[in-house]
Amino acid sequence: MGDTLYVVVPCYNEQEVLRETAKRLREKFRTLIAAEKISARSRIVFVNDGSKDATWDIIRELHGHDKIFSGINLSRNRGHQNALLAGLMTVKDCADMVISMDADLQDDIDAVDEMIARYADGFDIVYGVRSKRATDTFFKRFTAETFYKLMKFLGADTVYNHADYRLMSRRALEGLAQFGEVNLFLRGLVPLIGYPSTSVLYERAERFAGVSKYPLKKMLFFALQGITSLSVEPIRLITTVGVAMSTVSFAVILWTLYEYFFGDTVRGWASMLASLWFIGGLILLSIGIVGEYVGKIYLETKKRPRFIVSEFLNVP
Ligand code: UDP
Ligand code: MG
Repeated sequence: MGDTLYVVVPCYNEQEVLRETAKRLREKFRTLIAAEKISARSRIVFVNDGSKDATWDIIRELHGHDKIFSGINLSRNRGHQNALLAGLMTVKDCADMVISMDADLQDDIDAVDEMIARYADGFDIVYGVRSKRATDTFFKRFTAETFYKLMKFLGADTVYNHADYRLMSRRALEGLAQFGEVNLFLRGLVPLIGYPSTSVLYERAERFAGVSKYPLKKMLFFALQGITSLSVEPIRLITTVGVAMSTVSFAVILWTLYEYFFGDTVRGWASMLASLWFIGGLILLSIGIVGEYVGKIYLETKKRPRFIVSEFLNVP
């Protein structure tokens, strides 16, 4: 008999897809258990992230028919990252390995077999990496790829084209549990845990039904969150720009003195106004970046709970 697998699925307003996802996962579990790749104690855990539709009712109904389906109901909507963490932290003591997966069937369920095989080879973390993004719109593909490049440039290293579809062993989860930060960016934290890791390629499908819960505004916020919670490179960049500006300003002073003594000083209104606005903008931007970090420190020092669970179905 194999090790115990828990699959954690965060769900926010997923009533259109949930039954289909549950059906396909159940089928996958049936074959895996029959092949003795995973134990019969394995479970599928849906985390309801404060959905406003019938998502939680569907989870209860699934649980009623088949105890392999478990549920965690959060007290309110906390966002994908926190919902996922709630699931991972709840199941980490009863699973040998945990796979996190989206509810919308964009993550290919068949990649699970290879993930488990890699786990059996001794890897603690197996990243699901998209082989191509053919099904995404050009806009989504472009923004996502810019995001990875920008992240790397700003010193926040993440696995390229990997979202939150991954397998983690129990000891990797115990490692993750030691990260106490409130500003969560899991795909940046997981590589910091260490332990042997590898990747599995899969093709990202289109959303099965329903709409994306990550509109542009949320995506931009998420990118900002990722960068500022993993690296202080932007603040260093400000310092570099500051040094460059000072050097330039020294040259400007020399030029001004020259013009004062030998030229016509009334000219230069345009350059004056341009640099005034430019430097003003730069200062505001820099204060904004520093402020972002200060705000983050503020939120971290409060140590507010990252999630609150209102109900468990069949999970300890
Ligand atoms: N999700 C969540 N809480 C939220 C937003 C999203 O738990 O506040 C879940 C959602 O149900 C899905 C996963 O996070 O299972 C990814 O969301 P989505 O598919 O909308 O994002 P996309 O794939 O478009 O980036
Ligand atoms: Mg999706």
